[in-house]
Amino acid sequence: MTKRIAIVGAGPAGLMAAEVLSQYGYELHVYEQKPSAARKFLMAGKTGLNISHAEPIEQFIQRYDQVDWLAPWIKKWDANWIQQWMQDLGIEPYIGSSGRVFPTEMKAAPLLRAWLKRLVEHGGQFHYRHQITHLAKQQLTLNDLKQDRTFTEKFDAIVLACGAVSWSRLGSDGKWQAWLDQNEIEPFQASNAGVEYPWSTFMQPVFGQPLKRVEAWVEGADKTMGDIVISHYGLESGLIYKQGRGLRAQVKAGQQMQLYLDLFPDQTIEQLTKKLQPSKKQSLANIWRKAGLDGAKAALVRELVAKPIWQNAAELAQKVKQLKISLTGFRPIEEAISCAGGVKQSSLTDQLQLKSNPHVFMCGEMLDWDAPTGGYLLTACLATGRAAGYGVHQYLSRT
Ligand SMILES: Cc1cc2nc3c(=O)[nH]c(=O)nc-3n(C[C@H](O)[C@H](O)[C@H](O)COP(=O)(O)OP(=O)(O)OC[C@H]3O[C@@H](n4cnc5c(N)ncnc54)[C@H](O)[C@@H]3O)c2cc1C
Repeated sequence: MTKRIAIVGAGPAGLMAAEVLSQYGYELHVYEQKPSAARKFLMAGKTGLNISHAEPIEQFIQRYDQVDWLAPWIKKWDANWIQQWMQDLGIEPYIGSSGRVFPTEMKAAPLLRAWLKRLVEHGGQFHYRHQITHLAKQQLTLNDLKQDRTFTEKFDAIVLACGAVSWSRLGSDGKWQAWLDQNEIEPFQASNAGVEYPWSTFMQPVFGQPLKRVEAWVEGADKTMGDIVISHYGLESGLIYKQGRGLRAQVKAGQQMQLYLDLFPDQTIEQLTKKLQPSKKQSLANIWRKAGLDGAKAALVRELVAKPIWQNAAELAQKVKQLKISLTGFRPIEEAISCAGGVKQSSLTDQLQLKSNPHVFMCGEMLDWDAPTGGYLLTACLATGRAAGYGVHQYLSRT
C-alpha cells in the first residue's frame, strides 16, 4: 500500500518538505487554508526576495540564535545550494553588493510558480482552502472551506509547516498551538520588529527621518552600524532588528529594554568635544549643525539629553557617543517580520519528529529559532523543510 503523507501549510518550509518527499512515490497531500500557496513568501518578495546570504558558512550560521541545532541543516542546504536549486527551477540568482541573494527578477512569484508546477508534476496533490482544525495521533480534522464540510483523514505521517504568528492575514495564525502540550512550545515574541518609545510632540517633525550611519548596541552584545528611522511609535530598521535578540533577553530577564546609540561612530569624544564648544558668536543650533548634529540627530539629543548638558561640550560629546534609550517594548507581534519562540528543540528528535507523537514532523518558522532578516529566515525554513522531509522518509522506511 502506498503510504499517505499530509503536509499542513504551503509556505516555503512545507513546500520544501513536499519536494523531498515527492521523490519517493508517496501519496502526498498538501493542505493550505488560504486560496493559494505561500502568501508570506510572496509578500517577502514584494520589495525583493532576499532568499539567502552569500557569506562564509561559519559566519552565516552565527546569525541564528540556535546555532547548534540548525547548523547541520544550514551547512548542507546553504546559500550555494539554494542558488543551484533556483537555477534548476529556471530562476537565475543574483548576489547583491551586500552579499544578499535574490532572484534576478527580484520577485517571488516566478520562482513560486515554477516550484509549484514541478511539485504537481512530481505527484503532489494540493488542497487549497483546506484548514486543519485538529490533530490527534495520525488523524487530521479538515475543514473544506469551499464546501463548508468537516471530515477526518488518517495519514502515515504528517508534516506541520504552519508558520509562526505574525502577519496572520497571510495564513500563519498560530492556531496549531492548541494541538500541542503548551510545555512543548516556547511562547512567541516579535522579532525583526520595530521598538517603541513615547516621543514628546517635539519629535513629530522628524518622524520618518533617518539617523544616518549610527552604531547601536545593547549591553553585552556586539555593536552594529547602519541607519535607523525615527517613526511615530519609536525606532525601526534592519539595525534595530539586529539588536532584537539582546533586547528580548532583557525582557526575559525582567529588565527594561535599553538600547545605546553612538550618533558619531567615526569620531572620537575629543574630536566632538572640540566641535561642540559653545561660542558667543554662534547659536547652539549652528554649532550643532556644523558638528553634524542636525535634523533627526539634533531632535533626538534635545529629546533625550537634559538641557543643562547641551552647553557642556565634553559631557554632550560623551552622551551622543553613548545615547541611552529606555524603550517601552516591541511593536505588536502581528506586525513583526518574524517570530522568536515556537516548538522547542527539546520537543523534537534530531529528525524534527515530535517526541510526543511520532507520526508528526515539524519545520519552518513554527520552530523555536530566530535570525535577523537578510535571507537567514528563508534559508532556515527551506533547510528545516528538507530535514523534516528526510525525517519522514527515514521514519516511513522503518515502519
Ligand atoms: C513582510 C515580510 C517580509 C519578509 N522578507 C523576508 C526576506 O526578505 N527574507 C527572508 O529570509 N525572510 C523574509 N520574511 C520571512 C519569511 O517570509 C518567513 O520566515 C517564511 O515565509 C516562513 O515560512 P514557513 O513556511 O515556515 O511559514 P509561512 O510562510 O507562514 O507558511 C505557513 C503556511 O501554513 C498555512 N497554515 C497555517 N495553519 C494552517 C492550518 N491550520 N491549516 C492549513 N494551512 C495552515 C498558512 O496559511 C501558510 O500558508 C518576510 C516576512 C514578512 C512578513
